[in-house]
Amino acid sequence: MATNEILRGLMINPERLKDLATEAKEFALQHGVLFRTNETPNSSEVATYAPFTLFPSPVPKAVFHQALAVQTHFNTLVDKISQDPGFLEEALASTIQADDFTAKLLGIYRQVQHEGRTQSIMMGVNRSDYMLDQREDRTSSLKQIEINTIAAGGFGVADHLPVVHRHILRLAGLLEESQCVPDNNSTAGIVRALAKAWELYGQQKAAIMFLVEDVQFFIYSHRHVDSELWKRGIPVIRRKFEDVLKAGFLDRNKKLFLDGLEVAVVFYRYGYMPNHYKEKTWEARLLMERSLAVKCPDIGTHLAGTKKVQQELARPGVLERFFPDQPQVVEQIRATFAGQYTLDMGPEGDQTVAMGLAKPDEFVLKPQREGGGNNFFGEDIVRMLEEVKGDKRRAAYILMDRIRPKVEHNVLLRRGLPLQLSSVCYEIGVLGAYVRHGGEMVLNEVAGQILRTKSIEHGDGGICSGVSVFDSPLIY
Ligand code: ADP
Ligand code: MG
Repeated sequence: MATNEILRGLMINPERLKDLATEAKEFALQHGVLFRTNETPNSSEVATYAPFTLFPSPVPKAVFHQALAVQTHFNTLVDKISQDPGFLEEALASTIQADDFTAKLLGIYRQVQHEGRTQSIMMGVNRSDYMLDQREDRTSSLKQIEINTIAAGGFGVADHLPVVHRHILRLAGLLEESQCVPDNNSTAGIVRALAKAWELYGQQKAAIMFLVEDVQFFIYSHRHVDSELWKRGIPVIRRKFEDVLKAGFLDRNKKLFLDGLEVAVVFYRYGYMPNHYKEKTWEARLLMERSLAVKCPDIGTHLAGTKKVQQELARPGVLERFFPDQPQVVEQIRATFAGQYTLDMGPEGDQTVAMGLAKPDEFVLKPQREGGGNNFFGEDIVRMLEEVKGDKRRAAYILMDRIRPKVEHNVLLRRGLPLQLSSVCYEIGVLGAYVRHGGEMVLNEVAGQILRTKSIEHGDGGICSGVSVFDSPLIY
């Protein structure tokens, strides 16, 4: 890649590297690629640039299009799973014995199912993440790492990165390459879905509520979406679980009200980790789930994104259950699956334990957690498996083939980080947005892509955890 040559040149010319990095940072700030700072995560007085790569990363055209093309099928799949209590119960039966958080979520799912669902409008925003597995013949194949069905992030901010990357490539004299960085419009896709759900709800004065966290690093990401909604005349409010607990109530018809406002859509930006909940918070979650408000996501869709469900889907014959007459769709989805193995009690799980202990470097051990920094790699797999292998605690995990992506070189730009050449690898995230009304999908779209790049010294990733940075694809 021509960028590699440029990078080599920059490494022996630190002044030039510094100039280019300064140009990139200022361009990013100017175009709204913004982040709050670690020191003042809730202050409206201080902002910095969202961390990103100096250059975009090369992504083969075929796999890029493959990832985009399969997304609407993943939207449909997640939606079908969310409405299949039989499947969810069976898939999660062992997990809930070992994982209290998943058990609590399933408890709410059961309760809502039992009471009868109140809202037939459903909306989802998910992000399917992939790495490119390097084959021996040096071609690469697209492998799904996970699918995020709650609070999938990165939209908004990442829309403005291609402009920055094209500019940097041009400054570096790579005009042709600058034309290979595609536009990204995740904001528009998510706004279309939120607006559609709001419109179907059918109450002009009702608001879309972003359910947010205490520490609001990603506010500028949200702002891109909420300003577009306001432009369409759709009111947006931001509330925390505690606010819902204090002021939220359901009227006779189960309409959700808060501070005198009716809520049409609850857009969860939080609530995906056990530590997001205190005892009382669960009451707020249940209140929203029971309400007539459209939930993005509802509790079934949240559960459809668990690692355990992902592992069950990789079993032979399971995708056919959801697409009985569409073998091509099954094939398209299955092509992205890496090997995944159950750790439930029994002979199959025993075999997985033996495999993980024998070759820990070939696998990743994953608990039912989100948000990065939870997985086990290498010797930590052995330590963990030795600890839990004898009892049902092991069912809280799954084992997955470890993907070995191609190593690239880049300079990671993050506030306070020295400018240096790093060996990196990227993960492609594809956003999908959909709205279902009763039995009919009324909107089902791909809503842009998000590349996240990290230094290869890290096994796990995550922008929040300070490991990964935003990136754009350079399609070749
Ligand atoms: P989370 O929900 O915490 O984000 P992920 O499944 O996305 O969990 O895993 C977090 C990170 O761990 C990923 O971003 C990736 O860097 C790494 N990872 C996860 N699964 C694999 C895998 N099978 N092979 C290689 N790396 C992986
Ligand atoms: Mg992830």
